[in-house]
Amino acid sequence: MSKPIPDDLPLHPAAVGQLHMLKPSDETPLFRAIGQEMSASLEQLLTLADSGYDISAALKDLAQCATEVDTSASEIQQLGAQLDVARDTYTRESKDCTPASVDTWNSYCSGELSTPSLATIMASASASEGQPSGSRKSSALGPEGKLLRMLPLLWADPRAVIPDEDADSDDVVIDGGHIELTCPITCKMYVKPMISKSCQHVFDYDGIREYIGDNGSRSCPQAGCSKTLTMRDFAPDPVMALRCRLATIQEHQASAGTASQQLDVL
Ligand SMILES: [Zn+2]
Repeated sequence: MSKPIPDDLPLHPAAVGQLHMLKPSDETPLFRAIGQEMSASLEQLLTLADSGYDISAALKDLAQCATEVDTSASEIQQLGAQLDVARDTYTRESKDCTPASVDTWNSYCSGELSTPSLATIMASASASEGQPSGSRKSSALGPEGKLLRMLPLLWADPRAVIPDEDADSDDVVIDGGHIELTCPITCKMYVKPMISKSCQHVFDYDGIREYIGDNGSRSCPQAGCSKTLTMRDFAPDPVMALRCRLATIQEHQASAGTASQQLDVL
């Protein structure tokens, strides 16, 4: 005996519009807000570190959270792209089916006539098909995301070279396998590091400002770089700022450690 209700029926023309309204909710504002919260937490941790607290484990947790949030965000994004593919495939395949009517109902119940199932198509819409191009570039957490994910690496070594996630940006100046935390112009540790958007070279604000002068343009002071730069080419470099902050904290902790050790000896 055949079933009273078919498992699937062809898509009714009136339902096409509703089908096209199906999409995952946009969580971008939520993720951005989380990114800001996490940055605030990082700031609190750094302040605690200034007072001598060991923040290693907390930094690791924060980075882990950032990675997890980013994974969820890209899963949602992928789901949306997968849904787009599935919806188009389903609409197209459904169009060729015999319309459901009183006359065809029994044939659909018995399986004599069949129609694609949205659920099956959705499940089989491959991840690669659904992958939107360029989606992995930026973090869902906003500008803070990349920084947050790097935390454990930078804490372990503020001068560590970070494996580059974006192929087209070549991050910061690399010298003998580590990042210099000293401005090539001022020859001091960065106070307000600025990164050139056109060549990615980093200089301290005061140094580059004096070098370029008011409203002027000059060739990049980095040896071997031929870019002509104006102050407008520069933006604050949060990664370098964090590197310097972590390095300073570690130097303070190291000298405080030495001091207390000396005290113990006395
Ligand atoms: Zn340059």
